[in-house]
Amino acid sequence: MQATGRSLRDIVAALLSRPDEIMLEVGAGGELLVAQLRALVAGLLLLLPLGNILAGGSVAETLIGLAGAVFVNIFALIWLALARFRRRFQWLPFATAAFDVSATTLVLMLLATNHLPAALNSMIVWCGYLLAILVTALRSDGRTTLFAGLLAILQYGGLSWAIFALITSPEQLISSDYGTVTPSNQVQRLLLMAIVTLITAMVVYRMQRLVEMSGTDGLTRLPNRTWLLHRMPRLLDAARQGGGSLTVALIDLDHFKRVNDELGHHSGDRALRHAVAVLRTSPENGEWLVRLGGEEFVMVLRKPVGTAWERVDAIRRQLAERPFESERGAEPMQMTFSAGLAGFPQDGVDLSRLLRRADQRLQVAKRDGRNRVVAREG
Ligand code: GH3
Ligand code: MG
Ligand code: MG
Repeated sequence: MQATGRSLRDIVAALLSRPDEIMLEVGAGGELLVAQLRALVAGLLLLLPLGNILAGGSVAETLIGLAGAVFVNIFALIWLALARFRRRFQWLPFATAAFDVSATTLVLMLLATNHLPAALNSMIVWCGYLLAILVTALRSDGRTTLFAGLLAILQYGGLSWAIFALITSPEQLISSDYGTVTPSNQVQRLLLMAIVTLITAMVVYRMQRLVEMSGTDGLTRLPNRTWLLHRMPRLLDAARQGGGSLTVALIDLDHFKRVNDELGHHSGDRALRHAVAVLRTSPENGEWLVRLGGEEFVMVLRKPVGTAWERVDAIRRQLAERPFESERGAEPMQMTFSAGLAGFPQDGVDLSRLLRRADQRLQVAKRDGRNRVVAREG
């Protein structure tokens, strides 16, 4: 597999770049999941002050706890409401990750006002950082993970440094409940945070590669049907909002079975790759080529049907002019395709309707003798 040979620089570049469309969709689902989880945990936090008062805790302590829980709940509900808009707010994963990390720091600061060693040696609250970093894996965006990890290290490192700078005697960092705070265990904690960040980033990287593989066709390296199903709704939305036009071309190679029959399946595969190479020469902006399956392809063009017809017909002529040479010295084999076009919105407003209409026109092209592009009836 390709992934095993990737250099560290590739991995870092992949983690720092904007994820592709499918990954952003997966990440938006993950953001919603994290938001639901956060709202649930925040709801449970409301029970803590109740427990405190029932256990005979002080009213002041209970009120502080209640105020904190209400604060967290308000934000948890805001993040949940925003996450339901899916990918509307691109900054949301960063904001919520920063919230999760900073909420942990805030609690540690509150602990510090009461008892300094509690802030630096509390295991439970400090684990909030690790959880905040780990859940970024669900957002499937390496940038969020690295951001959360770095922020957590900076905040905790800053807090730790500030407490060490503020104390007047080392005895202030000795506690019967929390043990003794030492610089070395603080460094260990920061290291652990860095390690958890790296591991989480690796999980994100692997997930991105798996999704990439699931959206890519192995033979031609073209995006596949899964990619199209994820990408198309967004392209249609963009066309709807921007008032632009979109055309879907269903392309089917002519008499491809003959290539297999005459040259064998292996050469058939090479012929397929040859056809794809021609289909991809000089790609224009706002054009996507997808292998739907077999020797069928979909081309999506950000053009009205008339202009799209001219473009697809030009590609058809190019393919007809560049025959496939199965091996040196063998007779070159002419390859052609037939295509049916359907335009948004007049022929359909979703992918399945557009493909159905394009398929009807493709059948007309086949019936009328192949090696042609059909964009309208009659
Ligand atoms: P036409 O579309 O012009 O009606 O004729 P056709 O011969 O192309 O017919 P059809 O679309 O039904 O058949 C497609 C053939 O393509 C069937 C299969 O043998 C071949 N094929 C599909 N996928 C692959 C592939 O990945 N590799 C190879 N070698 N052949 C493939
Ligand atoms: Mg076919
Ligand atoms: Mg065919």
